[in-house]
Amino acid sequence: MSFELPALKYAFNALEPNIDARTMEIHHGKHHAGYTNNLNAAIEGTAMAGKSIEAILENLDMNNKAVRNNGGGYYNHCLFWEVMSPNGGGNPSGALAKAIDDSFGSFDAFKEKFSNAAKTQFGSGWAWLCVHKGGKLDVCGTPNQDNPLMPGIGCGGTPILGIDVWEHAYYLNYQNRRPDYVSSFFNVINWNEVASRFEAGK
Ligand code: MN
Repeated sequence: MSFELPALKYAFNALEPNIDARTMEIHHGKHHAGYTNNLNAAIEGTAMAGKSIEAILENLDMNNKAVRNNGGGYYNHCLFWEVMSPNGGGNPSGALAKAIDDSFGSFDAFKEKFSNAAKTQFGSGWAWLCVHKGGKLDVCGTPNQDNPLMPGIGCGGTPILGIDVWEHAYYLNYQNRRPDYVSSFFNVINWNEVASRFEAGK
């Protein structure tokens, strides 16, 4: 059994004008496909074969660069496509909204903290919203394809929202204007999906 590139649940152009179709097509069909293929090659014949991606990352030998980079890349992009939607944007509601208020003071304070993590992640990486057992939320940034499931990386907890700030995620449309891309990302966040992940991870 090997990992498969998940199909997008929306068209490549469905997130326009926030994320352009060409970027989505290359990002999913080339970058994510590459991480998937390389992950499968890296775990073939090892004790990791057949394990869930979460189990692989949580128990990862961080010196295993092939699985760190490609397993991270596989997991991170699977989450990324799911937490965006053409019907996204707006504000979270219910228990997630309350947890954001409790953890950060307000939605606007969360938004500023998350946006700053995304804008200030030097070079390639990700910004995350994570939930700890008990429901406390945290924001952090991680380099490359690392994520907080990995031992000793970022804020720990379970990622429930993530933004890819590698240049391949935005450069065609935004060039060097990463802050504009981060701002636009909030127009497509699928808060229903983030809320489901919050319930599962808290
Ligand atoms: Mn990417």
